[in-house]
Amino acid sequence: MRNRLGRIVIAVIIALVSVVGYWTKTQENPVTGEKQRVNLTPEQEVAMGLQSAPQMAAEFGGLYQDPKAQQLVKSIGQRLVQSSDAARSPYRFDFHVLADERTVNAFALPGGQIFITMALLKRLKTEDEVAGVLGHEIGHVVGRHSAEQMATQELMSGLAGAATIALSDPGSANSSAYIAQYVANMLNMKYGREDELESDDFGVKYMVQAGYNPEALLQVMRVLAEASGGNAPPEFASTHPSPGNRMEKIKIAIGKYSKQ
Ligand SMILES: [Zn+2]
Repeated sequence: MRNRLGRIVIAVIIALVSVVGYWTKTQENPVTGEKQRVNLTPEQEVAMGLQSAPQMAAEFGGLYQDPKAQQLVKSIGQRLVQSSDAARSPYRFDFHVLADERTVNAFALPGGQIFITMALLKRLKTEDEVAGVLGHEIGHVVGRHSAEQMATQELMSGLAGAATIALSDPGSANSSAYIAQYVANMLNMKYGREDELESDDFGVKYMVQAGYNPEALLQVMRVLAEASGGNAPPEFASTHPSPGNRMEKIKIAIGKYSKQ
């Protein structure tokens, strides 16, 4: 009886610590200035992203075995980052092509590891369209959308603190378990509608700043609408907001950034 009460007390304390942690861990976004609830520092986001990238890639058949394709995507991504506002972020961006030829998808890990599947890449006809996909994903990283989602999930599952353990002792059993959990969370992550629209807006801005044709992002939306006729709702082709709704907002963003 006493034992049970003891455990309840401990559970309550853990829950309180999680809740207090969630509400007090507010950080200012280094690029947008927005106040956000995130548990990880940008350095921790980079470390977690780098550590979990191989497992994440393995979920999509590993890296596509063609150095030319990898190099092309890396160079488009780096041009977007280096010639735009994204260069002011503390993240280390890298871009990878995944071997999966069936899942039309692209996604970003917190900290700057960005992936595009071969299935999506081969549907794109121009470098500008590739830049549209990568620019949108860079937007998720700069907007710290995953870190925000993770903060909410950690509040729910009491995972707070595990990241610190994992990072302070990489390679330990604790660390591997945390990374496995992290990859599972990332695979199931759904961004909100506002996050998608914000990333589209950032994507257009980075394209304009880096000298890519932002109209190509509209073509990407058409490609995604066509591809979503199949199954699997990928991150990028997220049905809410619908591609049509997103296209209206993208047109507004093109007008806004092209004038500057
Ligand atoms: Zn997205």
